Amino acid sequence: MNKVILLKNRPVGKPTLDDFQLLEEERPAIQEGQVLLKTLYVSVDPYLRGRMSSAKSYVPPFELNKPIHSGVIAEVVESKRSDFKVGDHVSAMLDWKELQVSDGRGLTKVDGSAASLSAYLGVLGMTGLTAYLGLTEIGKPKSDETVVVSGAAGAVGSVVGQIAKILGCRVVGIAGTDEKTSMLIAKLGFDAAINYKTTPDMKAAIADAAPNGVDVYFDNVGGDISDAVLANINQFGRVAVCGSISGYNDTEVSMGPRVQGILVKNSVLMQGFIVSNYGSKFPEAITQLASWLQDGKLTYTETIVDGFDNIPQAFIDLFEGKNEGKMIVRV
Ligand code: NDP
Repeated sequence: MNKVILLKNRPVGKPTLDDFQLLEEERPAIQEGQVLLKTLYVSVDPYLRGRMSSAKSYVPPFELNKPIHSGVIAEVVESKRSDFKVGDHVSAMLDWKELQVSDGRGLTKVDGSAASLSAYLGVLGMTGLTAYLGLTEIGKPKSDETVVVSGAAGAVGSVVGQIAKILGCRVVGIAGTDEKTSMLIAKLGFDAAINYKTTPDMKAAIADAAPNGVDVYFDNVGGDISDAVLANINQFGRVAVCGSISGYNDTEVSMGPRVQGILVKNSVLMQGFIVSNYGSKFPEAITQLASWLQDGKLTYTETIVDGFDNIPQAFIDLFEGKNEGKMIVRV
């Protein structure tokens, strides 16, 4: 038998386990031109929350009562194709299924001897690319500038901060626990870190941590945190708007300060982006990230949750900040 996870309900507010359904189906069989893939690692990501709602976005919503899919590392366990052999490891957008059939389209082979297989879902995958391309293409940090990153201890944020350090910047991270802020400084080399859950005046705390003001803000969270960072932005500052997880479960549009005045007064560039905008730059970005990893300039953190059945809970836990670095389920 083969386990599958479907989207049962469109979540209202914070997703719950009731929004997902685990069921078993017959073990799939392959035909000529197909491979059978066994799921090894599943990426759970905040953006999946958007796809669970019916709202129009840059990717279509998931269909109700159909399998959810996300980034997966899988092993070829049967093959009737010449280009994939049993034992090959691949990365692809795949269904939340233990086993599934593929015709080979969209599969990228990954080399488990060059880096851990799970790294291809994080630092050498979508979140690493998001960090690198959002920072370098929009943030464009220069040496000695101050870079602030929110969601700093997560998959994207932890890589953004390290790259900004490599580029010679002062780096301030914002995260939700003292363990995370300590890790950012001790393990990842950030210059300062702020726990937004225990800091009553974020605007003042950012001013303290960034005495020369903020030149680049890499925004993963939106909301009050971003309002406080923008209140410290420098003239000609750049804001790369990557995500706004603080609002993903909102049922009403939240209002903050209107930003136009800040942008005009300081000649600030604020730009949202989707990592796929920079698809043509993926090969050079991966080469750079892999080289920094190999040289020990970049490190990565993962939170690994075991068990296929725990994929929905691991996803929900992103909204509780239970992860440090990339949240991954090992099947
Ligand atoms: P993370 O690994 O950062 O996990 C999510 C983290 O968000 C949690 O660990 C938690 O950390 C923090 N968080 C949860 N709720 C809140 C809240 N209400 N306020 C502030 N922080 C919160 O996820 P990713 O690195 O994968 O993604 C980070 C952001 O980047 C997301 O917004 C995501 O949608 C976006 N993204 C955008 C892409 C693009 O192409 N534009 C591509 C990939 C990701 P804490 O303990 O610090 O609260």
